[in-house]
Amino acid sequence: MNMEANKTIHSPETVVKVDQVFKVFQRKKNMVNAIENVSFSIQSGTFVSIMGASGSGKSTLLHLMAGLTPPTSGKIFLWDKSLSDMKDNELTLFRRQKIGIVFQNYNLLPTMTAAENVCLPKIIDKTRINKVMPRANELLDIMGLSHRVSHRVDELSGGEQQRVAIARALIFENSLLLLDEPTGNLDSRNGEQILKLLRQLATEFHRTIIMVTHDAKTQSYSDENITIHDGKIATESENVSTPEIPGSKN
Ligand code: ADP
Ligand code: MG
Repeated sequence: MNMEANKTIHSPETVVKVDQVFKVFQRKKNMVNAIENVSFSIQSGTFVSIMGASGSGKSTLLHLMAGLTPPTSGKIFLWDKSLSDMKDNELTLFRRQKIGIVFQNYNLLPTMTAAENVCLPKIIDKTRINKVMPRANELLDIMGLSHRVSHRVDELSGGEQQRVAIARALIFENSLLLLDEPTGNLDSRNGEQILKLLRQLATEFHRTIIMVTHDAKTQSYSDENITIHDGKIATESENVSTPEIPGSKN
């Protein structure tokens, strides 16, 4: 298993900088402060977990970092580039090439093979499939799926589909990997396999990984943890004592 980053020595750089970000949603007459004055930065090659109860703002924060939704105020920088200063088409290209996103429901194309799904972002980027296929196979091998390369995705188990989605999110070199509750639909054995893979991607391949989750086990695999509570970064003591909010939805 050979990935680009393995051979080079990396000096850490700031990949993500979130600077005093607020996100307010307007729902009928109500305002929802989904993210409130959140600031942090993340260095290359780190695996960061973002924990919080359902409804605490995890997905919103991930979507903000992915440039899928603009902040109400504050700024987000990826590799020193301010997302809000980019034009739409520049942001679309940047997102495709520099950010790998793994959504909770995988978003794979069910009738295409695992390998074709992994190739997809490059094909949209006008690379020919036979040029990118060796790389797709290599990534699926790293994900422990070399025996599933030519299988249709709808024939794979949940854990396998999740790993195909991660392989697809890694098809561009050096991209940031953002994951929304990737272990949420998996049993604990499959969930732990995903966590080990993410750990390996950061340690061996110097990938920057941000995973939002409410699965406390993640913290024993990540380098750093950020806990959010009602849209704000929780203090150390809040982190320990925050109960699950009953009845809140995902
Ligand atoms: P989590 O992923 O931690 O469960 P979310 O980021 O999905 O939390 O949601 C945080 C808060 O923002 C919740 O109160 C949710 O209802 C609200 N919210 C999220 N997205 C929207 C939206 N598009 N419109 C209105 N409210 C939203
Ligand atoms: Mg969510």
